[in-house]
Amino acid sequence: MSENYLEQYLRELIDTAKEYLAEKKPGEFWVSDLISCPHKYIMAQKYPEILLGHTLDNNLVLGDIIHTGFESFLAGRGFMIEVEKEVKIGNNTIKGRIDALSEDGLRVIEIKSGKDVKNPPSPHHVLQVYIYMAMTGAVIGKIVYLTYGRLVEVEITKDHILEALRQIGAPRNLSQPNTEWLKEYVEWWTNRAPKPLWPWECDYCPFASLCPYRKSNGNRR
Ligand code: SF4
Repeated sequence: MSENYLEQYLRELIDTAKEYLAEKKPGEFWVSDLISCPHKYIMAQKYPEILLGHTLDNNLVLGDIIHTGFESFLAGRGFMIEVEKEVKIGNNTIKGRIDALSEDGLRVIEIKSGKDVKNPPSPHHVLQVYIYMAMTGAVIGKIVYLTYGRLVEVEITKDHILEALRQIGAPRNLSQPNTEWLKEYVEWWTNRAPKPLWPWECDYCPFASLCPYRKSNGNRR
């Protein structure tokens, strides 16, 4: 029987997800954790199998393929891609995997895929890019939306990040995206009550059926 390349590709996705879950240690937060409900982080530690079960969701698989394609374009324009970055904040370690970082470290690009995006940039994406900027010292952050409904590139501004922080009730006294700001943000996030950051978050949460703090607003985007 000939080799099945799709199966090999999907198997690699599962193995990568397993490694990611196995590597997670207490006090270690990925940027994706920091832009989400803090209780989701706790649920992911209790029930990693639930996250693993979502690995082969069609949208995630297609999103991975779209990322690979645009990252390869950016690599041809001199960007470093899938850059792993780690920053120590007190006893915590913040880890991020940045889609694309310019060689001079000044520009961060995040790629988003999916069905569509309303009013880009979405506040949780803005927050993600701002954290990457704080971790790397980059001064320009961009989000490239490669969705079925819209293909658009947006540069994030101070107003975008202030609006994102306002929506989640986080401290808004920022000057620059730097480690001082990140420290303050991580302290706020780790001390936050177990509730969703965003009004739509429980509607998309893989742990919703088990979570005592679930709030459902029927806000699926
Ligand atoms: S269901 Fe809501 S409150 Fe519970 S972990 Fe998920 S996002 Fe957080």
